[in-house]
Amino acid sequence: MNSSQIKHFDYIFTGTGLASLMTVYKMILSDKFRDKSILLLDHDSKKINDRTWCFWEKEESIWNSIISKKWDSALFANENFKRDLALKPYQYNQIKGLDFYNFVFEEVSKHRNITFLNEKVTDINELETHVFIGTEQSIYTCNYLFNSIYTKTFALSQTKYPVLQQHFIGWFVKSDVDVFDPKQATFMDFSVDQKGNTRFIYVLPTSKTEALIEYTLFSENLLPKEEYENEIQKYLEKLGVLHYEILEKEQGSIPMTCYPFWKKNTKRVLNIGTAGGWTKASTGYTFKNSDRKSSELVDFLQHEDPKMAVFHKKNRFWFYDLLLLDILHRHNELGSAIFSSLFRKGNPALIFKFLDEETNLIEDLQVILKCPKLPFIKALFRVIFK
Ligand SMILES: Cc1cc2nc3c(=O)[nH]c(=O)nc-3n(C[C@H](O)[C@H](O)[C@H](O)COP(=O)(O)OP(=O)(O)OC[C@H]3O[C@@H](n4cnc5c(N)ncnc54)[C@H](O)[C@@H]3O)c2cc1C
Repeated sequence: MNSSQIKHFDYIFTGTGLASLMTVYKMILSDKFRDKSILLLDHDSKKINDRTWCFWEKEESIWNSIISKKWDSALFANENFKRDLALKPYQYNQIKGLDFYNFVFEEVSKHRNITFLNEKVTDINELETHVFIGTEQSIYTCNYLFNSIYTKTFALSQTKYPVLQQHFIGWFVKSDVDVFDPKQATFMDFSVDQKGNTRFIYVLPTSKTEALIEYTLFSENLLPKEEYENEIQKYLEKLGVLHYEILEKEQGSIPMTCYPFWKKNTKRVLNIGTAGGWTKASTGYTFKNSDRKSSELVDFLQHEDPKMAVFHKKNRFWFYDLLLLDILHRHNELGSAIFSSLFRKGNPALIFKFLDEETNLIEDLQVILKCPKLPFIKALFRVIFK
């Protein structure tokens, strides 16, 4: 292929999942990118429901029309106590992956300056004046690249920042008896055997007979598939569900790490989504962060000659996450005690605000001081003197 045959774009997105689609959708809404050519590349056609996103929110947002379920209340439990958490002024919202993909692609299809190609990216090469992208089928160039293809080895090949995974398997089940409370989600039920880890059940009921049930760990190593599934079966039995149909399954392994992914950003390449460190390190939640960061990015791109390498700013919440991950990495069995202390008496709305990184210093302390002190003091010394 000679250089005149290579197609050039202003912006290319390698990977067209959550972070890319949020960014592109907001570029469209801003109406400031009509004259820019944009290419979206993904080896997946984004036509299946490969995940369900949940996030908390106070006000209605641009995603409101695709929210499939909202909860005003959540349950936190361990082997000794249960607490109903009134979430007001927040609501816990659910969006099905496929609804999100369809919603954004429908808008994208109305804009001739945006092209989606179903191609696997095999190579990214940055030069002084542009970036080369190789796929299994072709070669493209662009002025700026947004990459959301996650490279595991970046975080795993270092030891400075612990890397845990939020890993889970979920079954969307339909039971033959009324057993779920569709008004209440179960955030974390630590009453399951911890086996030296941080293990809990997460339940998203959509009717009295239907719910997504996930067996989840915050830990370093994945389990054999049967172990997650046996635990889901045991939990269903405990709830009294003996006959049920599995309607859908989902699974995930989301990196939980303070590894500074943004240091890989360069003059023309910006890593976004999980690949760019947009996943909240202490929880694995990414939807809300991506919503915020994609808005910031679309504003940032409107600056004259944006410098991708300076897009990210580290804040004190990064440091709090680092402390928690340091503890869970060394003492994975402490997760239940830490989250239980936080949720036993903590104000749920304040915890959400803290996780959204919107609290002030006094509010930070109100949340942090609910956690067991000794492990955090030890982690503080370890992190400072490392
Ligand atoms: C099952 C599941 C449930 C989750 N639930 C929640 C939740 O409830 N709340 C929450 O906040 N977060 C949740 N997450 C975490 C996070 O929100 C998602 O992982 C989110 O999709 C991350 O967005 P992203 O844009 O970084 O990556 P993705 O959405 O995964 O997008 C990356 C894209 O890159 C593509 N790709 C990869 N390699 C190539 C290649 N070589 N060439 C071309 N394309 C490529 C992939 O096909 C994909 O479309 C969940 C994750 C999973 C897996």
